Amino acid sequence: MDTKALANLLFPDVTDTPEALEARFPSRNLPEGAVVTRMAPSPTGFVHLGNLVQGLTSERLAHQSGGVLFLRVEDTDAKREVPGAVEVLINTLKHYGIHFDEGATIDGDNGIYGPYRQRQRADIYHVYAKKLVLDGMAYPCFCTEEELNAMREKQEANKETTGYYGKYAMWRDRSLEEIQAQLDAGKPWVLRFRSTGNIANQFKFNDLVKGELTITENDVDHVLLKSDGIPTYHFAHAVDDHLMRTTHVVRGDEWLPTLPFHIQLFKALGFKLPKYVHIGPLMKMDGTSKRKLSKRKDPELALTYYKAEGFPVEAVYEYIMTLLNSNYEDWRRANPTAPSTDFKFSPKKLNPAGNLFDYAKLCDISKNEIAKMDAERVYTLLVEYAEEFDSEFADALKQDPDYAKAILAIGRGGKKPRKDLATWKEAKPYMGFFYDQYLQVPEFDEKFAPSLIKTVLEKYLATYDFADDSNTWFDKVKAITEEIGFTTNMKAYKADPTAFPGTVADVSTMIRLAITGKTNSPDLYTVTRILGYDRTVERVRKAMEQL
Ligand code: GLU
Repeated sequence: MDTKALANLLFPDVTDTPEALEARFPSRNLPEGAVVTRMAPSPTGFVHLGNLVQGLTSERLAHQSGGVLFLRVEDTDAKREVPGAVEVLINTLKHYGIHFDEGATIDGDNGIYGPYRQRQRADIYHVYAKKLVLDGMAYPCFCTEEELNAMREKQEANKETTGYYGKYAMWRDRSLEEIQAQLDAGKPWVLRFRSTGNIANQFKFNDLVKGELTITENDVDHVLLKSDGIPTYHFAHAVDDHLMRTTHVVRGDEWLPTLPFHIQLFKALGFKLPKYVHIGPLMKMDGTSKRKLSKRKDPELALTYYKAEGFPVEAVYEYIMTLLNSNYEDWRRANPTAPSTDFKFSPKKLNPAGNLFDYAKLCDISKNEIAKMDAERVYTLLVEYAEEFDSEFADALKQDPDYAKAILAIGRGGKKPRKDLATWKEAKPYMGFFYDQYLQVPEFDEKFAPSLIKTVLEKYLATYDFADDSNTWFDKVKAITEEIGFTTNMKAYKADPTAFPGTVADVSTMIRLAITGKTNSPDLYTVTRILGYDRTVERVRKAMEQL
């Protein structure tokens, strides 16, 4: 076969050469050990936890080594593309602290290794496609859909491995004349790789997460260019990661089955193979068994979910770090206030089998993160959240920022801060009662007669003095308890509950319900200090009227 004639026949317009491209995209001038890596998502509009796991791994590898993180948009599948998806992607990742040094941006490209959108790189892929044809490593295939289906059916009937390989590679050794005739007839074609691999051969390969793998050679003549001239993922991966000078490819392990082909392709193109970091899937417990998180079944896979629930970015970030590196939690305990970027991240510590997503743990981490913040920051983040998801509540908070901050300061600071909130969504149920419009009508325990509750509240009002400190205040509650024949001796009550009609806890709950509309609230004395005298008295009066 005259490969030069074939190359010119297939790619008459390609005049650029691999050498010229090598010169146009020179090696990066970075210190020894600097990692160049990328995120290469398809713009489907759906950003998920897996993207964040991959993004954080890439970001840490690049930035802790003084390297480069870039964004490449893999838009070769126009059918899956959603308008505005790139913007959503960039903004979502930015929200979680992932900034790209280079690559696709909302308004275009930033960097000299672009274009960073694959559809704009067709002429670059064609240069290498032509080279492979010239080297006898690629050829056009004119098989129709029907022919390929018939082939698969035959293979299935014979219980053979399906695919375009060996004797099934129908167009592998056709003559130039046959090819020319098809082209002249205007038949569509794809470009296929001519595999020299043999599945009887195996070799060792080291993945930075999976460790040493035994790889079986690939013998399939995979498609490099589709009939519209747009590359497949495999071909684009090799060309782009080479020309963009990627040193580490961090990606999901669903790509492992095609890794043998990728290794072969890099070799055929004369490219140095990058290091691979294949990340296992995120899983969840479903009953007693584990399964992969699914876009269809699990809303918690989408990153928008965490924003709408109101998990602070810090919490999601911390949680993902604990998933990625099992020693992160110990490090965090020893360095409670250090920036997470001080942690020495290692891809070797990633669990090769993937990770179990644990929602309860995320909530725990989030409670800790929120407990660590000061009231000012909690206020800022809560307002930001409410502005997007509950504008009425945002207005209430903003109407009197000092009042809101005083509420949010309850139990904050000190050695054992309260851990009331895991998400901003929980803030309204937690503190809404401070705002009259969210105050609920108290539902008193029916085991106490309304007249008795009224008596308690009357006595409370009769002795209530805003000047009281918390001890005096509570002494008065205790006095009321005894006056109505309830006990303040909880021990005695626990020993024989039938001996008393009620306790100081019941009396406190009556007062708490009257003031907050709830049976649970932060320290009631503190609540009254923030509400103020008038509002406290008014609420108790109103509760009495409602009885
Ligand atoms: N576009 C591919 C994906 O979304 C990229 C995989 C890679 O990072 O190489 O799975």
